[in-house]
Amino acid sequence: MAGLGTKLIELNRQGPAKKCERCGLSYFIRHHEKCPHCSDLSESELVELVDAKARGAKRVAFIGRKMFIAAAAVLILLVLFIRLST
Ligand SMILES: [Zn+2]
Repeated sequence: MAGLGTKLIELNRQGPAKKCERCGLSYFIRHHEKCPHCSDLSESELVELVDAKARGAKRVAFIGRKMFIAAAAVLILLVLFIRLST
């Protein structure tokens, strides 16, 4: 697994990133003149890409909420266990 320092050096080598105005995704100007995510896509394919991105973000938020609830439940059980054992 690469450390944080190695990742920072890699990012520095890749140069500045640019956010595409069409699809909203980022890419490295050094490697691509045009956006590699959407430059070859038609308007309908672009809508699909943006929808898929939004669905992915919703899923991550859903998983985040579930993880928060699970962490809260573990914390409550831990507090109850400590209170019962003392
Ligand atoms: Zn794009």
